Amino acid sequence: MAGLTGNLWQATRSLRFRLALSYVLFFTICMLVIGGFFRWTLQGIIQGEVDDALEEEWGAAKGYLHVVAYGPDWFYDAYDPEESFIVSRLQRVFLLTDANGKPVMRSPVYDAIGVDSPDEIKSILKSGRPLLRTRYDHGEPYRVRSGKWVDNNQVFYMAVGKSMAEDEHILGRFTRDYFLMLPAVLLLGSVFGWYVAGRALDPLNSVSRTAQRITSSNLNTQIRPRGAGDELDHLIETFNAMMDRLNHSFEQIRQFSTDVSHELRTPLTVIRGQLEVALFTAKTPEQYREAMENALEEVERLSSIVRALLLLSQSETGQLVLQKTDVDLAETVRDIVDQFQIPAEGQSVELTSRTPDHCVAPADRIQFERLVSNLLSNAVKYTPAGGKVKVTLAALPEQVKLVVEDTGSGIAAEHVPHIFERFYRVPSAEPEKGLGLGLSFVAWIVKAHGGSIQVESEVGVGTRFTVTLPAGESPARRLAAEAAEREVAS
Ligand code: ADP
Repeated sequence: MAGLTGNLWQATRSLRFRLALSYVLFFTICMLVIGGFFRWTLQGIIQGEVDDALEEEWGAAKGYLHVVAYGPDWFYDAYDPEESFIVSRLQRVFLLTDANGKPVMRSPVYDAIGVDSPDEIKSILKSGRPLLRTRYDHGEPYRVRSGKWVDNNQVFYMAVGKSMAEDEHILGRFTRDYFLMLPAVLLLGSVFGWYVAGRALDPLNSVSRTAQRITSSNLNTQIRPRGAGDELDHLIETFNAMMDRLNHSFEQIRQFSTDVSHELRTPLTVIRGQLEVALFTAKTPEQYREAMENALEEVERLSSIVRALLLLSQSETGQLVLQKTDVDLAETVRDIVDQFQIPAEGQSVELTSRTPDHCVAPADRIQFERLVSNLLSNAVKYTPAGGKVKVTLAALPEQVKLVVEDTGSGIAAEHVPHIFERFYRVPSAEPEKGLGLGLSFVAWIVKAHGGSIQVESEVGVGTRFTVTLPAGESPARRLAAEAAEREVAS
């Protein structure tokens, strides 16, 4: 029982139920309003016709009623069936009083509906305007037209009326039939509403069923749009795009795990080999030393990989906060370029730099060093022998501009938008060349400093990275700028 109540409760919470209910409620209100409106219109038409008929009867009454010596009386041809009929119909609801409201003639109906009070009659006679109203005899309505009648210089108050029982009956039937039919129409409407809501929400259910089936092994699942171009198709497209992004990220992470394992395995294998050499084959102290040195080199490599991974997670979780101070960026760039001279020479790459004497700006020294080394190491790494790498630093009025350009392999246009993504490596890049993290760090460092970075690259020609950082306004920078100006002047 509790289960059934629970299921019912669950069903009433469903969007389908709520949509169908709103539809039925709206439909009911519309039907009631339409029914009320038709009844009101029908009543108006009927009353209009009755009023017109009464107007005619009033005219007929004036034709057949005349005041003679003994008072007013009906004058008609009693042998003419038509005239007899008209007069007898007039007499059914008829009242004639003198100017003081004293009844002179009246039909028995007036016993029930009551004669108008003398005051009322006097005021109607005074106004001279005809009056149309509905009077009731035990619920049975009578429409009465009353007003002033003058004959033979005598003023009377005359009222002719008509029972509206027949008309009320027609209205009653209309109302009854309409409201009897209403539940059936509403039932049909509910079934239709339920069906339409179900059909409209079907694609949603399909999205939810598909989403339930998705696991890490079938992230490339897509839902086929129905081609209707409506909101649900838009939802399906959004869902598919989201799945694409998820799949892409998942692929990157999967690739990253493979790369990390590969990166860690190579130095580990080397360390193992060197330790085995030390243990089993080395004989002289030089051989031991060489094996140890080689192993240490690989341990360094391992540490740098682990450091990179740690840094990445720290920057992503917001744990890495910049420690900004006034840094002479020109000096920093020169130091790093010096450090890269040996590896560049080793690859026969010509490395040159152009910097002002000083360029002081607010920056995190360590992160700025990392930014320059990552760009430089890429430039050297992806430039073949005989190529050139050039680093330029320029102090602009409001900004500092760092350009690292090379005559290396270049990056194909379709990869350029992705190179700053984590773990992204141009597919052809040799696996041992990196983890695809360097540029994501660069992007993070630039962003954290409030700067921007641009890439221009052409395959086979070279690549240029342009970093722009805000120069800030610091006393040290002002002094340095002044010193530079003095130098130029002297
Ligand atoms: P990696 O550790 O693989 O170098 P990065 O994030 O530093 O990772 O760079 C991402 C990718 O961008 C690299 O795989 C490489 O293909 C490309 N790339 C970066 N810098 C250069 C460059 N100066 N010349 C050519 N390709 C580059």
